Amino acid sequence: MSQYDIIIIGSGISGLSLAHYAADAGLRTLVVEKSERFGGAVHTHRFETGTPHFWIELGAHTCYNSYAKFLDIIDDLNMIDQLIAREKAPFRMLVADHLRSIPSRLNYFELFVSAPRLLFLKKHGQSVKSYYSRIVGKGNFNKVFTHLFSAVPSQSADEFPADALFKRRQRRKDIIRSFTLPHGLQSVIDAIAAVTDIDAVTGSEALEIERLAQSFAIKTADGERYTADYVALATAPVDGVRLLRSAYPDLADELAQIRVATVETVGVALARSLLTLEKIAGIVPAGDSFYSVVSRDTVADDEYRGFTFHFKGDQLDLDAKLRRVAQVLQISPRHLELVTTKQNIVPSFRVGHEDRVTKIDRLLAGRPLLLTGNYLHGMSIEDCVLRSASEFRRLKRQTGSLAE
Ligand SMILES: Cc1cc2nc3c(=O)[nH]c(=O)nc-3n(C[C@H](O)[C@H](O)[C@H](O)COP(=O)(O)OP(=O)(O)OC[C@H]3O[C@@H](n4cnc5c(N)ncnc54)[C@H](O)[C@@H]3O)c2cc1C
Repeated sequence: MSQYDIIIIGSGISGLSLAHYAADAGLRTLVVEKSERFGGAVHTHRFETGTPHFWIELGAHTCYNSYAKFLDIIDDLNMIDQLIAREKAPFRMLVADHLRSIPSRLNYFELFVSAPRLLFLKKHGQSVKSYYSRIVGKGNFNKVFTHLFSAVPSQSADEFPADALFKRRQRRKDIIRSFTLPHGLQSVIDAIAAVTDIDAVTGSEALEIERLAQSFAIKTADGERYTADYVALATAPVDGVRLLRSAYPDLADELAQIRVATVETVGVALARSLLTLEKIAGIVPAGDSFYSVVSRDTVADDEYRGFTFHFKGDQLDLDAKLRRVAQVLQISPRHLELVTTKQNIVPSFRVGHEDRVTKIDRLLAGRPLLLTGNYLHGMSIEDCVLRSASEFRRLKRQTGSLAE
């Protein structure tokens, strides 16, 4: 079938959560994904080794019981019982090639004289650097917090809006505080894509969105042409600019203003016996070629340990990256047999971003086009699902024909 009610371009959590809502409302739904797998930045890599196959997360790794909308989807998929707790382990800071505890890096006198500013300083309109360097003290910010904050979006977070980084949400008390699934977060992605009411295809890059009299036509690189009443873009903003250029140039111009950063991710797995490194949740370097390391130690495995390094874009080739990985893990590079790589694209928020999103939403009003993605209201999985839910509510309001 090539005629749908809605076509969703991009199968990350933004696209698939929207597909979940659309199919649930009875819409004939198609998801087209250009890569060979579903999930985008939710990407569990399963190595061809271990029983069961050992996996690591190449993108998102942790979900919290404050992710209410995401948990609703997991509930709908009957997967709540599959959630497992991530084991507790410390983060370490890498300083001059030594792993240090984070509290040991802090100047407590500076922290205590600065922290009372929390009571009266406003976050809104401030950058991460301008706000937090006053809350924790300049010295602590430059020595510790700038690195910790940059590990979150895998890029320097200094110029991010201070209120974009951490959000207060209500927690679901009946759910584990910090969770994943026995085979990684990919399990949720695959379960959504497998729902029979959703047609989802990989290896199918949307090339063009064409506006017809009452509908849209989408051409893909594999030679298909699909038509639908509504189209949703759930790609990075850079891809959106290309796709919207002829159909909605005003929106393309707005998306073109949103900057992105490229993260070069390297994942490795090793037999446990090869490592002497203590059990850790991750490593944050105090200035290095990478922003963070995420460990698989939080879901223990008898045979293997795994580590995902998020490198800065365009700095090191793969050999140099692997040499750095081996140094940090204190092993010989020849022990790095199980290696995988991926490129992640992440939005670079700046103060004033909310005004741009308000403008984008004004341009979207009344149009049969939906925009979702991690560059609108925040990067976390929950932010993405919330955006998809609100876009789908808008569609329902606009059409009136879909039951609320
Ligand atoms: C390293 C890293 C760690 C993270 N850790 C966490 C975490 O622990 N917890 C958390 O909550 N969040 C985390 N996040 C954030 C979160 O994972 C992402 O923000 C979110 O998954 C992005 O989802 P998305 O659907 O908006 O975009 P993406 O996942 O980027 O999906 C966009 C999809 O669109 C596809 N696409 C693009 N162009 C086309 C086209 N023309 N045709 C068809 N398909 C196309 C892409 O191939 C991609 O699959 C992390 C992100 C990164 C990068």
